[in-house]
Amino acid sequence: MSDCLFCKIVAGEIPSKKLYEDDLCYAFYDIDPQAPTHFLVIPKQHIPSAAAVTSENSAVVGHIFEVIAKLTRELGLESFRVVSNIGEQAGQSVFHLHFHVLAGRDMTWPPG
Ligand code: AMP
Ligand code: ZN
Repeated sequence: MSDCLFCKIVAGEIPSKKLYEDDLCYAFYDIDPQAPTHFLVIPKQHIPSAAAVTSENSAVVGHIFEVIAKLTRELGLESFRVVSNIGEQAGQSVFHLHFHVLAGRDMTWPPG
C-alpha cells in the first residue's frame, strides 16, 4: 500500500533499525520505545489490523508468533508482553498489522 508507513519501512523507503527479516515478516525497533526492549513484528503483506485477519491471510500471524518466540529466546527475554492495538480507541496509530514486543521492566495489568 503506497501511503502506508510500515509498507514503506518494509520496502526500505523509510529507514528502520532492523532486528529480523524473512520472506513473510519484518521486525524492527520501535522509534518511541515504551520499555527497555520494544520492537515491532509486522507482516510484509499489508493487512490493516488484527481485525482484518481471515482464513486467506492468517498463516502469517502464526509465523509471526514463531518469530517472536525465536527473537525473544535469542535476546534472552524470559518475560515479555505482546500487544496489538486495533482501532483508534485502543491506541492504533499505524494501520498496518503489527505486534509490539515489550520487555525489561515491570508491567501493569490491566493495561491503560
Ligand atoms: P500503534 O500505536 O499500536 O499503532 O503502534 C505504532 C508504533 O509504531 C508506535 O509505537 C510508534 O512509536 C511506532 N513507529 C511509528 N513510526 C515509526 C518508525 N518510523 N520506526 C519505528 N517505529 C515507528
Ligand atoms: Zn502497509
